[in-house]
Amino acid sequence: MTETKNFPTLSFEVFPPNSEVGVGKLTDTLDQLKGLNPSFISVTASNHKLNYEKTTIDLAKYVNDTLDCPTMVHMPAAYVTKAEVSSILDQLEAMHINQILALRGDIVDGYTPETDFTYASDLTKFIKQQKPYFEVSGACYPEVHPDSKNRIDDVKHLKEKVDSGCDQLITQLFYDNEQFYRFQEECAIADINVPILAGIMPIVNRKQALHVIENCAAHLPKKFINILDKYKDNPVSLKEAGIAYAVDQIVDLVTNDVNGVHLYTMNKSDTAKHIFSNTASLFNLEAQVEE
Ligand code: FAD
Repeated sequence: MTETKNFPTLSFEVFPPNSEVGVGKLTDTLDQLKGLNPSFISVTASNHKLNYEKTTIDLAKYVNDTLDCPTMVHMPAAYVTKAEVSSILDQLEAMHINQILALRGDIVDGYTPETDFTYASDLTKFIKQQKPYFEVSGACYPEVHPDSKNRIDDVKHLKEKVDSGCDQLITQLFYDNEQFYRFQEECAIADINVPILAGIMPIVNRKQALHVIENCAAHLPKKFINILDKYKDNPVSLKEAGIAYAVDQIVDLVTNDVNGVHLYTMNKSDTAKHIFSNTASLFNLEAQVEE
């Protein structure tokens, strides 16, 4: 895909805000991200049926047009029909966007999923049939998807997903690189040979830290827990330590030849810029960030 020869890729994820204020803030964020020259910026899809085109697709258009940056659109299979996907693919083609992260999507309580696609692999296959030149990425889980029976089953289904047409995989966030390395080995054994981008989400505030502790299935190393404990009442230090932890993870991943790093920015450009200025040369990018 968009990998620079011999260097890993760096990409960012943003999500569509749900208010006018949020839209204004995100526009500023995206302006700030301009010039960091990421391999691509991905735009998430919310887990409800309404307004996919008015949120995800509109924001993707903005990123693609305004930042002139390769753009990836998240598409949740559980929330779209075949007819809707066909229409969206045409729209994306007209916008010169050809990267999709094909997902099943998170199913919220009370929602009955659309039935045209059961799994992300069904959507991947459909996209590749409709528009073969579209680049389709898939999600993967170094610490196993919560619905899976076990690691073996999860990797088996991942292999089917890749064989259905995935060009690249992006991982769920993790805070313990050893989990990622183990997963890479399992993929190699299963003959999964597409690039795997490591999803990194820096901790930058207490609310987010608590959310991760309560909801995240990821293993949280002692070093990470210590940071959260020690700086729980000191927002400035928590943010600095959270960013330093993410930088440390990234340096280790790149040293171990990761294919790419996908940064969950949480729509915070200052965090992305801090991380960028500390790691740019690892990605063969130039740090041009004013601190
Ligand atoms: P799938 O690949 O379909 O897998 C789901 C489960 O089904 C897994 O347990 C898998 O092992 C199993 N499975 C797969 N195929 C089969 C089969 N043939 N038979 C039996 N079992 C099978 N959610 C959103 O709503 N919006 C987003 O924008 C979004 N972005 C994400 C970005 C990334 C990088 C990641 C990692 C996740 C994202 N998610 C998003 C969350 C994702 O939608 C959920 O984790 C969802 O529960 C699973 O999606 P998937 O594409 O991995 O599903």
